[in-house]
Amino acid sequence: MTHNRRFTLVRRPQGTPVAEDFALVSEPLPDLAEGEVLVRNAYASLDPAIRGWLDDAPSYLPPVRLGDPVRATTIGRAVRSRDPAIAEGQWMLGLNAIEEYSVARPGGFTAPVDASAAPSVTNFLSVFGAVGMTAYFGLIEVGRPQAGETVLVSGAAGAVGSLVGQIAKRLGCRTVGIAGGPDKCRRLIEDYGYDAAIDYRGRSVEALAAEIGKAAPDGVDVIFENVGGDILDAGLLHINRFARIALCGLIAEYNSVTGPVGARNLWQLIVKTARIEGLLVSNYIPRFPEGAAAMGKWLAEGGLRVDEHIDEGIENALPAFLRLFEGSNEGKMILKLD
Ligand code: NAP
Repeated sequence: MTHNRRFTLVRRPQGTPVAEDFALVSEPLPDLAEGEVLVRNAYASLDPAIRGWLDDAPSYLPPVRLGDPVRATTIGRAVRSRDPAIAEGQWMLGLNAIEEYSVARPGGFTAPVDASAAPSVTNFLSVFGAVGMTAYFGLIEVGRPQAGETVLVSGAAGAVGSLVGQIAKRLGCRTVGIAGGPDKCRRLIEDYGYDAAIDYRGRSVEALAAEIGKAAPDGVDVIFENVGGDILDAGLLHINRFARIALCGLIAEYNSVTGPVGARNLWQLIVKTARIEGLLVSNYIPRFPEGAAAMGKWLAEGGLRVDEHIDEGIENALPAFLRLFEGSNEGKMILKLD
């Protein structure tokens, strides 16, 4: 334990990231300052948001600097500690980087976790992590679904979307999911309990809108939007009066080389006096215990299916990350580092 392999950014990606944008470097482990903890990362969370952090553009977090390891949430055990409150061996969650060891300073999002509180420590990156909290607070606080309403979810078979569909169902809603390919659409129904599934691949906005019309004959009251572009445009054509659109992500444009695609049917918001609202999971950090308790209860009751897709090895960081954009991840995308 003298060196730290780190997945660093060496060039800003143009469009879809390629191998030349990154370098795997090995650096000596740093000394710790008072109050710091050295964490041996066991797992890194690979999230679509990482793509945005690689651009030199203003956002809710500063861009990853060239030469720095790629930022990611990780979970691992303390192997050295200069914080009297953190014992060696303690599991720690935090916004760190794709690297074998991270120097963590507890506070805010970086905190010890009680590993015995979850079936697997990876659950702190999925159902009890940002993904689960995004689904829970995004749906309940931004989407505000009522029993009997119809909830349309894009990216519905993914980490966030699969949970949104299941929560909406528990709240008594009709759920319609949009995902890529027949296999994912089968999983929407069989694994995540969606009432209807729509395959967006190869469909124009008009064709997608026709499918949404069939799947949601009473119109759509809540859209939980993970994708944007044509899918959002098609959904907008079916919103009911006073619909709520929770804008969670726009993954269809994260690798765009021509810039944002935009929503072209915004007129529908006026026609239906509807509301579109962005959501950022970090706004809810003080309420995470409440969200985790709700998810934990449903999980314990056996009423929540949580899928995790775990690839292994820091040398596989890029192909594992790119799964998110190819759609080849089946559940929360996680990289095993230890
Ligand atoms: P995920 O859904 O598990 O994985 C990404 C999925 O997106 C892929 O499996 C793929 O599924 C779909 N996708 C990729 N490119 C696409 C495209 N061009 N068009 C349509 N679908 C595409 O990822 P996640 O972690 O749950 O994130 C889902 C969304 O939530 C992302 O937009 C992310 O940025 C957002 N998010 C936002 C917050 C927040 O605080 N606002 C927090 C967490 C996540 P298919 O096979 O179905 O295409």
